[in-house]
Amino acid sequence: MEPQQRSPLLEVKGNTELKRPLVKAPSRLPLPGSRFKRGPDQMEDALEPEKKRTRGLGTVPKVATSHPRATVLTTVPQTQGQTAAPKVPKKTGPRCSTAIATVLKNQKSGPAVPAQKPGTAAAPPMLVGKKPSKRPAWDLKGQLCDLNAELKCYRERTQILDRENQQLRDQLKEAQQQATALGAERRTLEGELARVQAEAEQGQQELGNLRARVLELEERLGTQEALVQELQKEQLGLQEERRGLAARLEEQERKLQTSEAALSGSQAEVASLQQEAVAQAALLAERGERLHGLEMERRRLHNQLQELKGNIRVFCRVRPVLPGEATPPPGFLLFPSGPGGLSDLPTRLSLSRSDERRGTLSGAPAPPTRHDFSFDRVFPPGSGQDEVFEEISMLVQSALDGYPVCIFAYGQTGSGKTFTMEGGPGGDPQVEGLIPRALRHLFSMAQELSGQGWTYSFVASYVEIYNETVRDLLATGTRKGQGGECEIRRAGPGSEELTVTNARYVPVSCEKEVEALLHLARQNRAVARTAQNERSSRSHSVFQLQISGEHAARGLQCGAPLSLVDLAGSERLDPGLALGPGERERLRETQAINSSLSTLGLVIMALSNKESHIPYRNSKLTYLLQNSLGGSAKMLMFVNISPLEENVSESLNSLRFASKVNQCVIGTAQANRK
Ligand code: ADP
Ligand code: MG
Repeated sequence: MEPQQRSPLLEVKGNTELKRPLVKAPSRLPLPGSRFKRGPDQMEDALEPEKKRTRGLGTVPKVATSHPRATVLTTVPQTQGQTAAPKVPKKTGPRCSTAIATVLKNQKSGPAVPAQKPGTAAAPPMLVGKKPSKRPAWDLKGQLCDLNAELKCYRERTQILDRENQQLRDQLKEAQQQATALGAERRTLEGELARVQAEAEQGQQELGNLRARVLELEERLGTQEALVQELQKEQLGLQEERRGLAARLEEQERKLQTSEAALSGSQAEVASLQQEAVAQAALLAERGERLHGLEMERRRLHNQLQELKGNIRVFCRVRPVLPGEATPPPGFLLFPSGPGGLSDLPTRLSLSRSDERRGTLSGAPAPPTRHDFSFDRVFPPGSGQDEVFEEISMLVQSALDGYPVCIFAYGQTGSGKTFTMEGGPGGDPQVEGLIPRALRHLFSMAQELSGQGWTYSFVASYVEIYNETVRDLLATGTRKGQGGECEIRRAGPGSEELTVTNARYVPVSCEKEVEALLHLARQNRAVARTAQNERSSRSHSVFQLQISGEHAARGLQCGAPLSLVDLAGSERLDPGLALGPGERERLRETQAINSSLSTLGLVIMALSNKESHIPYRNSKLTYLLQNSLGGSAKMLMFVNISPLEENVSESLNSLRFASKVNQCVIGTAQANRK
């Protein structure tokens, strides 16, 4: 620790410690010897002891008053120097007398006379004036007298000196006592000093500790101050933020007030709207009731209309001539307009056939024989798929209303049956067939009817009947293409419903799903084709959709199957051909096809004639379709015709078959309501 940093307390103590001997030294140590250790100031003080004593310095006055002469005597040798003192006894005569006279004079004049310097001191008149005169050798008496006087003088002086000696001894003793006392005092003081020093050290240590503590506290203070500054800064930031928030709050409150005002306005509006809503709900219920009534009436009228159109309808469709095919001669196929002219939809078709075997008498070729046919509707080659579908969308509506609907495509191979049912190649929406269009129509109508509380579900199946065996066209995985044999069974004992075992029944709800199913069916047919050539044209493809509708609120249910059948080619085998092993197989196939097609015709006839026995069981096709052909069902047959002259024979056969069907009327259809 540096001296400058000492605490004021310690400095005071230090000063006291240092001053104490300075104050006491002159009073406690009046010994002549000690003066030599003093400085010039102390020397001067000693020359004027009385002067100092009168200033009242400690115990000095006491010593001085008790030994006034001793003090004077001690001053004499000092002023003359110590070297002069031993010479005194050797001097004789006037010098001794002078000294004695001085002593005597001093004793007479009292203690307060200060000593004078030798040079300046005036000699006593008695000794100065009395010059020692040399006695003549003879004056022995005189000499003796002088000697006596001198002796006397010496004796006196000896006495004085003895006295002084005694005094000095006393003084010494006293001084020794004082020295002892002072020694004791010194030890006490030393003890005190040691204690004070220890205290000082302790104080220093404490001071050190305190300084360290101060430093620590200063450091902490610094940290705290920094913290405080930081907090102040933060506080400023928070205050700023608070101001911002307060402003925002104010704004929000303002907005809230506005909103509250608007809300109360809105509440009033809501109340009036609620009243209105109640009224509207009542009105809506009434309207719903009326709508339902109207819907049921629509269904009834729609059905009536369909019945008026005929429960069995036949549409004739002539496909266009395809690129690379021979253009038929003009007038080969004609579409005569009806009684209403061109505004009437075409229902008639004329086919001219020139018979080479027949000749005229003149030998000229016989004029072609014209065959006229009339159907519910005739579609000439230019008719689009949409036009065709428009006519049958009514029937699809009937299926949704709960009437079984069955649509066939009949005709020779290559006449356009598959094109009509499934559509043309390439997935062009323009050439989409009846199946995708019918399903799209059903889905959208079901969506519309859902607004009236009806919920519909659709389950699709697609099978082919080849040579009186049923195969699943929706088979997947290992069964794909193989389409393991299926059996047609009743859904349950006593149930009217039929089901095909091993066949997939797939719920569908959108066009995409239907597309996927048709794609799968095409794939399955393609695989089968590699095994048996052109099997698809030799088999019936039956797409069935089970439609189920429910009006939960009214406890109504309706359900009916929609069947779309792409029949096998109706062409017959030329009986004149020689029968090889391949042809025999072909003949068996053809017989099976012809048999099932003729069974279909017979079933339709039997139904039309209201016969008691309907030969459904005579073919798998009629057996599978029995629920779609019965009394309440609606049936539509497309007869597909090739426009080519080379197919005229098959075309005529098809048209004749279709005409027969067209003449049939099947009882009054009844909706399958439960
Ligand atoms: P089917 O199924 O009766 O054997 P398809 O439907 O396979 O006959 O038709 C034979 C060919 O004629 C196909 O190439 C088909 O695309 C085409 N075709 C059939 N009907 C039409 C039509 N209405 N418009 C254009 N092409 C058609
Ligand atoms: Mg086909």
